[in-house]
Amino acid sequence: MANKRKRYEDLDQTVKDLVLNAGAIDVGIVTTETLEGGPPSTDLSYVLDGARSAIVFALPLDQEKIERFLKKEDFPGHCLDNVRTNTQASGIALELARFLEMKGHAAVPVESNFVYRKDTARGPFDEKPPISHRYLAVRSGIGHFGLSGNVIRENEGAAIILGSVVTKAHLTPTEPLSAGESYCDECRLCMAACASGLMHSEEKTRVTLGGVEFSYAKRQSYNRCDYVCGGFSGLSKSGKWSTWSPARFPIPDKDEEFLEALRGTLKPYALRPKPGIGFYHPLLPGNKGQSTCGHCQIICHPDKDVRAKRLKMLTEAGVVIQLEDGSLKGVSPEEALQHLAAMSPEERTLYENITRINRNYEFGD
Ligand code: SF4
Ligand code: SF4
Repeated sequence: MANKRKRYEDLDQTVKDLVLNAGAIDVGIVTTETLEGGPPSTDLSYVLDGARSAIVFALPLDQEKIERFLKKEDFPGHCLDNVRTNTQASGIALELARFLEMKGHAAVPVESNFVYRKDTARGPFDEKPPISHRYLAVRSGIGHFGLSGNVIRENEGAAIILGSVVTKAHLTPTEPLSAGESYCDECRLCMAACASGLMHSEEKTRVTLGGVEFSYAKRQSYNRCDYVCGGFSGLSKSGKWSTWSPARFPIPDKDEEFLEALRGTLKPYALRPKPGIGFYHPLLPGNKGQSTCGHCQIICHPDKDVRAKRLKMLTEAGVVIQLEDGSLKGVSPEEALQHLAAMSPEERTLYENITRINRNYEFGD
């Protein structure tokens, strides 16, 4: 028994060493017991029948590239960092899963993003992940839930990418962080930086995982984030600032209006050029997407002053237009209107609803 115990302890350390050696900044372990009582996306057996545990890990995003992105100074820098960090996370998951298999433990890598369950009502379009890295990360002590619902960490804030491996190996769970240690003071700057209104301003979601309760702002329809973070539209209601999307189709107020809005912007999305770095997503028209938002994540720095500074960077950096060569540029709201007015009607339909072209944008709030 003592020898068996020793062997399990060695495997705990080995899996942690492997992912840290590959570039992760932190790693945790959950088991079916520590996830007990959680939502369906914490059911490890969905990924691997008979699974006993999962290893979850975090990689950092480049903070300097984030600020240049928010200031509309550099689009490709953060996009490339985001794509490569996600790819690195998925690669580490594959490497660890194969390592565990070679050691005799069944294991399945769970990619960082863009993989969805196919057995729900609308299949992949429901965008239900096989497993939620976020829940695994907070229960295993990698970070806390911020009000945004993103996982936040003392040093990196929410600027991290997560990956996981589900396995039949007997591993020892790591402890969650104490709720009192979280830097989230509910400043709501994540909400202020979100043009889609995904996060509910009042209601919260509460989950219990293995007897520990976690909470974050209730998420309204994910179609909101699909529409804005997906790049279908990106102009804030004030008209003063935008995401990196050059499209300015109206952003609805109600959950039930977003699906129709998405449908109406599929064609312009597919026709707008997307030169340079992007990511490949199976649900996007034309499959290629670009990181146009992520504001709720990249605004959330541990230092409250930096958070406020980042929101200011975003809201004072103007709006994005697309130039003839397809490149994107941050300009003043007034310059953007002139740019659109100079387009042919056909070209203009790629960016806005031309029945609204005579509307005067109000720059008051
Ligand atoms: S931006 Fe503020 S409210 Fe939102 S998660 Fe970060 S610290 Fe919490
Ligand atoms: S990624 Fe953008 S659109 Fe989606 S919730 Fe965050 S801020 Fe809102």
